[in-house]
Amino acid sequence: MKTMLITGASRGIGAATALLGAEQGYAVVVNYLKNAEAAGQVVDRIVSKGGKAVAIQADVSKEKDILRMFNEVDRIFGSLHCLVNNAGVLGRQTRLVDMDGQRLERIFSTNIVGPILCCREAIRRMSTRHGGQGGTIVNVSSIAARSGAPFEYIDYAAAKGALDSLTIGLAREVADEGIRVNAVRPAFIDTDIHADGGEPGRIDRLKGTIPLKRGGRAEEVAEAILWLASDKSSYSTGIFIDVTGGR
Ligand code: NAP
Repeated sequence: MKTMLITGASRGIGAATALLGAEQGYAVVVNYLKNAEAAGQVVDRIVSKGGKAVAIQADVSKEKDILRMFNEVDRIFGSLHCLVNNAGVLGRQTRLVDMDGQRLERIFSTNIVGPILCCREAIRRMSTRHGGQGGTIVNVSSIAARSGAPFEYIDYAAAKGALDSLTIGLAREVADEGIRVNAVRPAFIDTDIHADGGEPGRIDRLKGTIPLKRGGRAEEVAEAILWLASDKSSYSTGIFIDVTGGR
């Protein structure tokens, strides 16, 4: 049974990925930050259908938490086949001119430093250069990497832009070590992240500007993530799948 570690899987896109991953036969690690109850419910849903899952609390903005999480995965499952760098945070919508250093620290430590460190730990376990069996990494970026998210969250967009560069560079760096690295770039997905940005109704406001004229579902992003994680995408590395309703 292959093991898939999904950061930020207590809700939203991460939870949908955990549920679909379990359905497709992965043993799933449901990482979360604060909401133990929600993470537990994701695990319970998987286990009640005969799947295998555990919840592990770890703050991906903290290196020591990341190390503890990967060590727990080693202890519980013995090996890792897929990392989904999904955890991500937004600040309140604002112009760059009003952003402070504390906000930037949180946005960059969670959205790009954490994913880089998670990639490092995954490579140490999966790379054939390190005695591993190979594997896949899927980064959850955003359309914001392309749009820059002016007037909303340029800091978040810049961190996602860095995640895209990470995807391209790392894909080439570990291509002959049995590891493929790809990304999805969602937009307008109906999750609680928009409330965290200060506008719970953001998708309703913007849906008229989306060619498909609706917001997306977390499950629609999970399908793309699972394809990139699987052998079905075996000849793709360093690529991006936009799940953006045509924007
Ligand atoms: P969400 O509903 O806000 O869920 C965020 C998840 O990340 C939660 O499980 C949360 O855990 C976890 N998390 C937050 N900070 C963390 C940390 N420091 N360490 C570990 N886990 C942490 O988000 P979402 O909308 O599903 O977004 C998932 C990813 O897709 C993010 O990277 C986001 O940037 C990207 N994305 C989303 C959209 C969209 O429209 N929704 C569009 C583009 C890109 P707790 O519940 O325990 O706090």
